[in-house]
Amino acid sequence: MNRKKIITFLIFFVIELIFVISAVSGQCDRCSGTGKIICYNCQGTGKVQTSEPVEICEYCLGFGVIQPTITKKSAFAQTGDKEVFVSGTFENDQTDGIYGMAIAEVIGETTTYTNSSERIYFPPNEEILVTVIVNNIPNDDWNWISKFGNLKTNIYLSNIDSLSCPLCGGDGILTPLATCSICYGTGFTDCPDCNSNFGLTGGVTTIGVIAIIGLVILSTIIIRRRKITEKDLRKMSFYEYQNWIIEKLSVERAQIRDSRLGIDGYTKDGEAIQINQSHNVGKAEVYKFANILSKKKIRRGIIIAFNFNDDVFEAINGARQHFRIIIETVMVKKLID
Ligand SMILES: [Zn+2]
Ligand SMILES: [Zn+2]
Ligand SMILES: [Zn+2]
Repeated sequence: MNRKKIITFLIFFVIELIFVISAVSGQCDRCSGTGKIICYNCQGTGKVQTSEPVEICEYCLGFGVIQPTITKKSAFAQTGDKEVFVSGTFENDQTDGIYGMAIAEVIGETTTYTNSSERIYFPPNEEILVTVIVNNIPNDDWNWISKFGNLKTNIYLSNIDSLSCPLCGGDGILTPLATCSICYGTGFTDCPDCNSNFGLTGGVTTIGVIAIIGLVILSTIIIRRRKITEKDLRKMSFYEYQNWIIEKLSVERAQIRDSRLGIDGYTKDGEAIQINQSHNVGKAEVYKFANILSKKKIRRGIIIAFNFNDDVFEAINGARQHFRIIIETVMVKKLID
């Protein structure tokens, strides 16, 4: 090895060393050096939808709303000039503030006199004092009420707003969830741009070793990122596969009601998307899809599958002529770059 070659080698080595040190000390943009990114399959929740049927929410019994309770903490009353100040303190146990109305009663010898408050805001977990003045009391009843020991009152809340169900978010149904098989429920996966799992805790020696290994690798092979193949997609669970396609096309996922009908997503232009994890999708599927689009008054749709039978063109023409619906077929391999 001549002098020139040694110098070139050393320059290469130093550049490589700087690269590796910056990589292990957390310079990766994608993961901010943590080595972990949010799991694409579950968006970091650690849970994914399953094909199990949905259940009615047991908390709101499917109504989507609940009638909240506001606890009465104390009640007291005071007489004034032909009027009674009826007070109570109330605490809202919910996590959201709610509006309600207080009703006060003054119980006379034969008649009960009532009055109500304005609508009052009850913030969460705070004791609120409410006073309602009852003053429509005639003279003779007032004489009886104002006698010592006769004053009898009551205060309670009414017309309390209902709250959106906290368990189902107001849908009335619960979608069963399973642990995400990509991140095992942690919500995170290893960052594909850096493998800073190793090296992060290591010292100078580790960095040196990595630098040498890295130099050998760099100077012998070109590193290529592993691509997803059609075979990988076939082996995925339907939900992982569906997520992959939805992310790839940057489309919006359909609501659960639509996905039951066979619409899995929508493009920004409102085209319906059906995702099939199967081969030989034929005219029957296309007609079925066209039928749903027609019922939902959607003019364009895209069917995705691994491949299609020749007879789909018959159905595509049929859908155009009979329903005036344009259906496009897309093979999954076109989405793999
Ligand atoms: Zn990274
Ligand atoms: Zn996950
Ligand atoms: Zn509910």
